[in-house]
Amino acid sequence: MAKQKPQKPIRVIMLGAPGSGKGTISKKLLAAHGGNHVSTGDMLRQAVAAATPLGLDAKRFMDNGELVPDAVVNGLIAEWLDAHRSEGFIFDGYPRTVPQADALGAMLTQRGIKIDLVANLAVPNDVIIRRLTSRRSCSKCGQPFNLEFMPPRVAGVCDKCGGDLVQREDEKPDVVKKRLAVYEKQTKPLADYYAARKMLRNFASESSETTVAEIEAALAKK
Ligand code: ADP
Ligand code: ZN
Repeated sequence: MAKQKPQKPIRVIMLGAPGSGKGTISKKLLAAHGGNHVSTGDMLRQAVAAATPLGLDAKRFMDNGELVPDAVVNGLIAEWLDAHRSEGFIFDGYPRTVPQADALGAMLTQRGIKIDLVANLAVPNDVIIRRLTSRRSCSKCGQPFNLEFMPPRVAGVCDKCGGDLVQREDEKPDVVKKRLAVYEKQTKPLADYYAARKMLRNFASESSETTVAEIEAALAKK
């Protein structure tokens, strides 16, 4: 596939459940357009690892599986926008709440930046459940496998080192269902928020190639 020439920067907010293909799709879009993958989860983990005051503060919430206070993540994003004013981005994991969406709207207006599109990856739950629950990894070397797309040569055994393959606790069916329910509860209000502002587009395709093509088409109309 020929790479597209760099065009005007894209500015996209990506909404999608765990297993919706958000990471893969973001990477493909940024490979074509340039710009930055901006994940508040990654930023916060970096701050925690560097033991900055912000990181120490955020850690308490993250360790409990709670959201970090809006003021903290909004501050990270404001700093990021100031440092990368003219660059494109895909926001992943931000905004996560309606107050964050309001704060982001104000930050963007202040800086004269416009979002092209809020892309909601509305992959059916049964597809996500199948994808996530078929993941396995080696208990010794960590090598990932997927029983559907990338099965090991011998069932239950790592191709690389012969170690046992295990399933992550949070990829077992019951936990996956719970994560999806939590995601839905968090994100539904955001999807509604952006739909009301005519910024939201739903992409319901199962393949990442098709979804990328559909998002490209939506961006081209901007
Ligand atoms: P996950 O997909 O497991 O939720 P993330 O990397 O998106 O992983 O986030 C990890 C943690 O970082 C979250 O559980 C939350 O504590 C915090 N976090 C990330 N983004 C936000 C955000 N926009 N608002 C509040 N907390 C956030
Ligand atoms: Zn192994």
